[in-house]
Amino acid sequence: MMSHKTSDDYDYLFKVVLIGDVGVGKSNLLSRFTRNEFSLETKPSVGVEFETRFIELEGKTIKVQVWDSAGSYRRTMQRRLHRLSLGVLLVYDVTKSGSFEAAKQWLKEFRENEEAAKSDMVIMLVGNKLDLMHLREVTAEEAQAFCEREGIFFIETSALDSTNVGEAFQQMLTRIYNTPALMST
Ligand code: GDP
Ligand code: MG
Repeated sequence: MMSHKTSDDYDYLFKVVLIGDVGVGKSNLLSRFTRNEFSLETKPSVGVEFETRFIELEGKTIKVQVWDSAGSYRRTMQRRLHRLSLGVLLVYDVTKSGSFEAAKQWLKEFRENEEAAKSDMVIMLVGNKLDLMHLREVTAEEAQAFCEREGIFFIETSALDSTNVGEAFQQMLTRIYNTPALMST
């Protein structure tokens, strides 16, 4: 992994990527995590490639670089994912079953890609828009069962009211930190 150690800077650089259908809340999860901001409008994420935030983890300073994929997940997978990402936040919208199906499809293609499938990249499924529970189309139970079958992690979030956003990133970063294969290259 990319590890930079300087005296007053940071111990590790973790690069993670947000993937998922348009409109599921990737950009708002990013802005909530890095700046504690939320926006009601969908802004095309043109130009915004990534944002960074420093966090403390087990006494180490981690520079977290979060990439927001504006384009299709296929293009993202090909162009970015294999370039040193340590984790993937695979986002869907709990009120849109189609976005859950898209996430499943992404994982299927990821598994079929030999190079990707061999990696130790940490994958976490993120069901966003938990605040819209009355409009829910994907139950937590079915998403959890899917993740157990696939051996990936699962969390539900709301970028709007901040529920679990910090936790999603914290869990992902802790898992990266505790994956020796990701920390040793
Ligand atoms: P992206 O295309 O995946 O980057 O999605 P955006 O972050 O641009 O969000 C798309 C729309 O969903 C915007 O109108 C956001 O305000 C809204 N949105 C994002 N996250 C949430 C959330 O947790 N709850 C609700 N209610 N709306 C959200
Ligand atoms: Mg976006």
